[in-house]
Amino acid sequence: MQISFKACDIGRCKSLCCRNCAVLTKAEVSELITNANKEYSLELEPKKFFRKVKGERGIYYAIKMIKGRCIFLNKENRCRIYLCRPTLCKLYPVIDIGKVDERCPMAKDLPPDAIIGLKRRYAEEVDEDIKAEQTFLFV
Ligand code: SF4
Ligand code: SF4
Repeated sequence: MQISFKACDIGRCKSLCCRNCAVLTKAEVSELITNANKEYSLELEPKKFFRKVKGERGIYYAIKMIKGRCIFLNKENRCRIYLCRPTLCKLYPVIDIGKVDERCPMAKDLPPDAIIGLKRRYAEEVDEDIKAEQTFLFV
């Protein structure tokens, strides 16, 4: 759902990428809430859509999941906040420094330059503390 080079085959993957919690900083949550209101006229109540998680470096916010699906995924397996989705969603299938989620059907179709670009963006755009965390615990 995040790649613009070629349409995702959602029928095949059922939006696999939206079955993990994206973790955001407090500032990123505020930005997402503001942008979702601007782009989609959504009023996102923070406690309804985000859960606090704790790492070794601090407190963050995970998008809530419902029955293993991101709360923003609609019945057609599409993102309801696509234009303002979190950075981690935009960079998928790159899921860590230098790591690609090979389960994504698009991952092997992407040109090498595109993957390199996403990895570079991961290094530059993902919050330094989030990148450094090993595990997140719900609090
Ligand atoms: S898992 Fe891959 S192919 Fe499927 S929606 Fe996500 S990015 Fe697109
Ligand atoms: S915010 Fe959107 S793109 Fe990100 S996991 Fe949720 S539904 Fe998918």
